[in-house]
Amino acid sequence: MNKPDWIICEHCDSVYQPTPLVRGQKAFCLRCGAVLDRGGQLSTQQLLALSICAAIVFCFANAFPVMSISLQGLGNEATLWQSVEALAQGRISVIAAVAGLTIILAPMLQIILLCWVLSFAVAGVAAPGFKACMRALEHLRPWSMLEVCLLGILVAIIKLGGMLDVHPGLGLWALAMLTVLIIIISGKGIRRLWHDLEGVIP
Ligand SMILES: [Zn+2]
Repeated sequence: MNKPDWIICEHCDSVYQPTPLVRGQKAFCLRCGAVLDRGGQLSTQQLLALSICAAIVFCFANAFPVMSISLQGLGNEATLWQSVEALAQGRISVIAAVAGLTIILAPMLQIILLCWVLSFAVAGVAAPGFKACMRALEHLRPWSMLEVCLLGILVAIIKLGGMLDVHPGLGLWALAMLTVLIIIISGKGIRRLWHDLEGVIP
């Protein structure tokens, strides 16, 4: 009980003493083989820089069309929001709510919370509402499905490509970058803040 630094395997509840790791090294659970810890994680400053970058890329992904189609001189293009709106008008309007939540709302909240928590953590203080924000980030992770959306769009482009002229838009490139950024910054690395800010969390 007087060793608060011990790490517990998420999968089988084994308890280990943490060892310092260098970049590229990983610590595995002896019982179940799960990854316990990785060496060379991003610093708080790097995470904040990537979060701000993600916020800018998120604006691009939503402001510009993800794809444009044309056939015999007639053209059409749609942004992420327009595609959610189009779903809302059909018979499967429930899907629109799910799509809006998983590809726009959840990533947006993730980015806002990350920027909020990290901008304070850089100065070595816990942001107001730190605990609630960190818990919210954990709950949001499974709801953010940009990679699924990206795959869906790529499949649509390939399928439609045989019938129409399909061009990926600027929004699609931004979406691809955003997917990678979100995976990097909202992963388990952010949990380190609990340890870094130990003692200053109200
Ligand atoms: Zn384990």
